[in-house]
Amino acid sequence: MNPLTVAVRREHEPGEHRVALTPDGVGRLVASGLTVLVESDAGAAAWFDNAAYAEAGAELVATAELYDRAEVVLSIGLVPPERLRTGQAVVGMFAPLRQPEYAADLAAHGVTMISLDGVPRTLSRAQAMDALTSQANIAGYKAVLVAANAYQRFLPLLITAAGTARPAEVLILGAGVAGLQAIGTARRLGAVVHAYDVRPAARGEVESLGATFVELTSVADARGEGGYARALTDDEQLAQQRELAERIGRHDVVITTAQVPGRRPPLLVTADALKALKPGSVVVDLAASPFGGNVAGSEPGRTVVTGNGVSVIGTDNLPATMPTAASTAYSRNITALLLHLVHEGALAIDGGDEIQAGVLITHGGAVVHPGVARLLERTPS
Ligand code: NAD
Repeated sequence: MNPLTVAVRREHEPGEHRVALTPDGVGRLVASGLTVLVESDAGAAAWFDNAAYAEAGAELVATAELYDRAEVVLSIGLVPPERLRTGQAVVGMFAPLRQPEYAADLAAHGVTMISLDGVPRTLSRAQAMDALTSQANIAGYKAVLVAANAYQRFLPLLITAAGTARPAEVLILGAGVAGLQAIGTARRLGAVVHAYDVRPAARGEVESLGATFVELTSVADARGEGGYARALTDDEQLAQQRELAERIGRHDVVITTAQVPGRRPPLLVTADALKALKPGSVVVDLAASPFGGNVAGSEPGRTVVTGNGVSVIGTDNLPATMPTAASTAYSRNITALLLHLVHEGALAIDGGDEIQAGVLITHGGAVVHPGVARLLERTPS
């Protein structure tokens, strides 16, 4: 039997500097008997050059040949459907619950879509495949560096001959993967850190990192399914916003990371809360999106300075700003998933497998993921 041919494409989204597979990942797949094609310069922006891929056992090819020969295309972002043909598979981070139309498009092209966002988060044997976690870790770390860069004072306590600088007061809203990494990073830079989450389980994690957990009386336990938060009711959300607004002004830096699966991000920092911050304060919204974020007025990829001198930084694909680390982690995730899916040199599709049930979105010309299929039923075509 011919070995399965997997192909690593060059990403094309503006600002996307990551690559789906590093030379190290190529070595692992080749050692498992797969043929690996790499589009020329696919890793260049993340400092993985063509020679390193060739040395690891990949064949460097031009774009047309890549799509022509590939049986499985490895990607991070969306692959244009017109590039793909019936019977091919694509593996990437396609956010199918946010953009189900893409899944419909791929199904219509007869392409099998496997999305790493669907890896079950709490299944121990799937942890090595969890790209949401590996990339959120990078985003949380980088968010603090972005904030520190924009904040025009020190984060740590500094005692010098020229006087003493007090440490910055940092507030992290949302203590999931990104939030916990932001707490650790801000602590390592010497800030005094406070953090809040609607899931009571977050308290222990926040405290174990040396931060103070902020207790709100307005919102009870908002634990949802699968370790995620549930959406708050309108009344709860208003009460939470008011209670947070009373506290936010005491901080110099605020970093927000709150998400609720399948919903637009909750608004946590209102325009009134921004008014309570001192001039020179910095707010970083990791949840900034075209549909709104955690912070009033935040815009992805832009810094907005409010009338009272507060910088509101809306982030946009922070992992791509650390492409070498982000690609290295993603490559390990995608390699682990691929090796789980391949049996005797071919993709072994099995909807009964718990991991596959999460990641398999389209197959055999249909959208097979129930959550994505339900979304499409509701969307008028
Ligand atoms: P996420 O990106 O969906 O959300 C980020 C955080 O925002 C979450 O902690 C959530 O509780 C919080 N949030 C939502 N609405 C909020 C609101 N209105 N106010 C304040 N905070 C709000 O979450 P995530 O980082 O992907 O993590 C989700 C869960 O999965 C967590 O419980 C995490 O510990 C768990 N997880 C477990 C594993 C594992 O067991 N291997 C791996 C990864 C994540």
